[in-house]
Amino acid sequence: MTLRTVDQQLIESADAALASVVLDRLDLGTTATFEVRDPATERVIATPPDHSIEDALVALGRADAAGKTWARTTARHRSDVLHRAYDLLIEQKDRLARVITREMGKPLAEAYGEVQYAADYVRWYAEEALRPAGNFRENPVGGSTILTTRAPIGTTLLITPWNFPMAMATRKIAPAIAVGCGAVVKPAALTPLTTLVVAEIFVEAGVPADLVQVVTTKNSAGFSSALMADGRVRKVSFTGSTGIGSVLLGQAAEHVIKSSMELGGNAPLLVFDDADLERAVEGAVVAKLRNGGQSCVAANRILVQDGIADAFVEGFTEKMREAVLGNGLAEGVTLGPVIDDRAVRGFERLVADAVEHGADLRLGGSAPEGDGHFFEATVLDRVPETAEIANTEIFGPVASIARFGTEEEAIERANGTPFGLASYVFSENIDRAFDVADRLDAGMVGINQGIVSNVAAPFGGVKASGLGREGSGEGLEEYQEIRFYNLARRAR
Ligand code: NAP
Repeated sequence: MTLRTVDQQLIESADAALASVVLDRLDLGTTATFEVRDPATERVIATPPDHSIEDALVALGRADAAGKTWARTTARHRSDVLHRAYDLLIEQKDRLARVITREMGKPLAEAYGEVQYAADYVRWYAEEALRPAGNFRENPVGGSTILTTRAPIGTTLLITPWNFPMAMATRKIAPAIAVGCGAVVKPAALTPLTTLVVAEIFVEAGVPADLVQVVTTKNSAGFSSALMADGRVRKVSFTGSTGIGSVLLGQAAEHVIKSSMELGGNAPLLVFDDADLERAVEGAVVAKLRNGGQSCVAANRILVQDGIADAFVEGFTEKMREAVLGNGLAEGVTLGPVIDDRAVRGFERLVADAVEHGADLRLGGSAPEGDGHFFEATVLDRVPETAEIANTEIFGPVASIARFGTEEEAIERANGTPFGLASYVFSENIDRAFDVADRLDAGMVGINQGIVSNVAAPFGGVKASGLGREGSGEGLEEYQEIRFYNLARRAR
């Protein structure tokens, strides 16, 4: 398989975008660096500072001090700054999209989509900032009135993954800023560049320079243990794997730190006999291939009812065949590289194991020769439950399809996992769709569509998929403490 070539002009504009990134925003004279590579070419594209734990503690001190002042600004001021940040992010979308594609690999069109989605969180929280929640109630036995308010929680620690380097950052930073908190942000070492650009744009919009501190480091374990043990961190918001999330929860328990955990998924996508076939195929392809399948809400187990299964697998395989694999900067590419070689080797292993267990390989299944971490769009049908792929988060462009007979069986299989982030139901019978959705262990259910993410919706999971919600009004509350005032009243 030959991959598409990239237009020279696009390479130059992507290089210019990369060259514009201020790599050391802490400016502490750190000399150690680490390499960031383009997953499409494996070439080194930047060498940001590898900040030490001492650097991180200086950053924490700055964010903490700046946060105390910021907390006293008016909601109107914070909202105006966030509105300006939204405008600037959109103004600079070409630069941001190129940096995202270069460091993370997704096709440029999807990178533009991420810029808009990420900026939408900033606009959403610019609006939410103006509507602080609170209420009052009378003491039932008289003698006082109870007022409740929401106060900024204090200094936050925000740790993000590599798969949506911009959206995962703004989904945390924007609500923190909106309510009046400072933040230390630690992007994944694989993709730190986009977050650096976002932080620069926030400052340009009027966010105080010290309020949002971006720490780039290879020592994520040392970094988080040191910061979590420092009494100044009052909130940790983490997006990443369940394993690391539970380590952080252990540290949070020890130091009693409020936590939001957006963790791993293993989303079932259920297609019932009474589904609209075209809708189900379209929805399943989007839910599988968005971001190259490297999404926590990706359709991980496609479960199809016997009566529609053959037609679905046919249509789904044809659509997956249309995916154009290549460097995300190349014209027409719809499936970029995956993040690293370890991921490629993992898909090879999962496909071989599934076939060994009796699965039917309908499409793809291998990695093309040459540079870059690519893997073909792959379809496996009749995957038995004993295959490893039926029980693991795939995080790539490999679709695993199994068949079921009854609604009960579908629900039991869908829920037969420790995870509960997203799930999807396709049925034209509204009663069935809602009944099944109600019975799924999931924080989010897509009904007759393959997308659940939306700034206005509370994003998050149940069971091992996490704690807390991001986005929407609920996402703001994660950065606030409830306080009440007990106001003495004259007896009547
Ligand atoms: P990961 O390995 O858990 O890494 C996530 C972040 O944690 C990165 O910044 C990483 O930094 C850092 N980290 C790694 N080890 C750490 C440690 N010992 N202490 C503190 N921080 C540590 O996850 P990933 O591979 O980047 O992302 C994939 C996972 O994230 C998948 O399971 C996916 O489902 C999940 N995810 C969930 C959501 C959601 O909203 N629920 C969204 C996106 C992704 P370094 O990489 O620099 O070490």
